[in-house]
Parts: sequence; C-alpha cells; structure tokens
Amino acid sequence: AIAALALTGCGRSETSTGGGTEGASGFEQDSSIGVALPQKTSENWVLAEKLFNEGLTEAGFKPDVQFANGGVSEQQNQISAMVTKGAKVIIVGAIDGSQLGTQLKQAKDSGATIIAYDRLLLNTENVDYYVAYDNFKVGELQGQALLEGLKEKKGEGPYNIELFAGSPDDANAKVFFDGAMSVLKPKIDDGTLKVLSGQTSFEQAVTQGWKAENAQRRADTLLTGSYSSESLDGVLSPNDTLARAVLTSVKAAGKELPVVTGQDSEVESVKSIMAGEQYSTINKDTRKLVEHAITMVKDLQAGNELEINDENSYNNGVKTVPAYLLEPVIVTAANVKTAYEGDPVLEPITK
Ligand code: BGC
Repeated sequence: AIAALALTGCGRSETSTGGGTEGASGFEQDSSIGVALPQKTSENWVLAEKLFNEGLTEAGFKPDVQFANGGVSEQQNQISAMVTKGAKVIIVGAIDGSQLGTQLKQAKDSGATIIAYDRLLLNTENVDYYVAYDNFKVGELQGQALLEGLKEKKGEGPYNIELFAGSPDDANAKVFFDGAMSVLKPKIDDGTLKVLSGQTSFEQAVTQGWKAENAQRRADTLLTGSYSSESLDGVLSPNDTLARAVLTSVKAAGKELPVVTGQDSEVESVKSIMAGEQYSTINKDTRKLVEHAITMVKDLQAGNELEINDENSYNNGVKTVPAYLLEPVIVTAANVKTAYEGDPVLEPITK
C-alpha cells in the first residue's frame, strides 16, 4: 500500500482527479524534451542526467537536459529556454518546488506537458504527472531501520538519538521526515528514544541545501552541547551524503559510532555498510525511475493514456497530481550482498 504524505498544508485528498489522458493528440517523435535537474546534491542526480540523455536519444527524441547548479533563478531560466526551444514535455526535478510557478505556466501555455520528477512541484495547477519513489515509505523504512539497528547494535534501550532532515526547499524533505516520525514519534513519547538536544521538529532538524558541511556542523554542535558525557546511540539521517557527514563528525569527536540511516545507495555508503559503519541505506534505482519517466514521454508522444498507480496521495496545495510511484527497498549489512543484483556499479563492489 502507498502511504499518504503530509506536506504542510497539503493533505491527502479524498477524491481523485481521474484521467491520465493528457496529450491524447501526441506529437512528433523527434521533438525536444526538456529535463530540468536541480543541483548535484547526490549521486542519483548525476546518474539521471546521463540516463535521460541516453534513453531519450535512443527513443528518438531530442533531449535537453540541464543542471541548475547556480540555484533557483538558473533553473527558472532553463525552463523558459526549454519552452522557447519548443519542448513538448518538460520533466522537472525542482530545487525549490514552489518557485517555478511562472515558468510552468509559460510551459503549459505553450502546450507542453509537465512531469514532476522525484520531487513534487508545489502550489501550481501546471503540473500534469508525478513520477517518484514513494517518499513517505522511504521515511518509514528509515525509522524502522533505526529502531532495528539500535536493538541489534546497542542492546536494550532507552537510546539517545538525534534527528536530521533534508533541505526545506525540497518538497521531499518534509515527507521523508514525516514518514520517519510516524515510526519514531511513538517511541519518543513512550521514552524508548531520547533526543537530548530537544530538537525534534522538522524546522530544527533541516539541512540547508542538502549540504554535508551543514549537517557536519550541526552534528559537531549537538555532540558538544548534549553528548560530552552521554552516548549518542542513533541518528536519523535522510540520505547517504548527510549520513557520512554525521559519521565524520562523530569520529572527530572520538565517540563510539551511532546507528545511522541513509538513502540513495551511494558507493561510499554501500562500502561503509559493508565495513560495519553506516547502518542502512535505501535502494531507489535511478535507472528504473528514469526509465519510467521516459515511458511517460513515449506514451504522451503516441497519444496513449499514461499508467498511473496513485491518484490520491500527492496533493501539491492546489491539485492532486496523478502519480506513478515506485517502491523503495531498505538495505543493511543483512541484505547488502543481494540488494544490487544487476546494478552495474554496485553489484561488483558488493560481491
Ligand atoms: C531525493 C533524494 C536525495 C536528495 C538530495 C531528494 O529529493 O529524493 O534521493 O538524497 O534529494 O539530493
């Protein structure tokens, strides 16, 4: 079952928008397809660039894949340029999902179909579809892994933990956190988990820009402030980049390593799991996500109805966006040797 998400102010909606018939007239096969990617904050985005270029070219389209390393205004300009070039579909992995309203309207007015990729586009009518791994489920899996890891590595509780969240401009960050807290909050309330810093809200836990240095600095501060004479047993980390930043901070402080969660199956983190340091990650195979996004483009081109498996969960504040969600998989030392079968990069290093 696909869990509901709870974006602030945007609940799960009761009724579906139905349909999935957008683009029924199709378009020329050699059309320009825009792909607006955010910053290179994790390996999955870098891989997505390559896969979109290869996959769209192979399918006969003209890919126009752009990173916006300079930030939101660069991404706004890139989307406008895609519209000018006549893109028939624009796939957007937003830096800030609520800052693209003007450009998305331009795109829609030009007749393009807009697909939100990995991150939802917020507060706009002008988004047709969403393709992503189930973000709330990612958070739940992280919360469950943290509890299991604590039991396995640290014996009976209570346990001292700290909470880290992703970048607040990324619509996913709150969903990951809410998913994790749906598992962890009851254990905080019953005293099994103690957050010695007292920082349990999303706002207190965020990591601006998903930057390792920001997470490392906050971990340093937490360790000095609350753990000089206490053990830190576990850390909820929303992704692998931040997990490794936390581990670096704990090592520098000379403390015993806590159980740390992650996400993305980055090479260094998979190695760290095999070495017994990072506890868990999440496998969200980027190849499958890009492949499905390209399937959507092909269906739009052919004028076919798109395959949608979730009509109800992703309300962006203005509308419920028909979504195709993929299932994330938790990876720990227990399944790391079999989790990446068929993955050209990860299978060889885990065998
Ligand atoms: C993605 C994560 C990634 C994060 C930072 C999120 O939107 O879903 O997989 O770790 O961005 O790049």
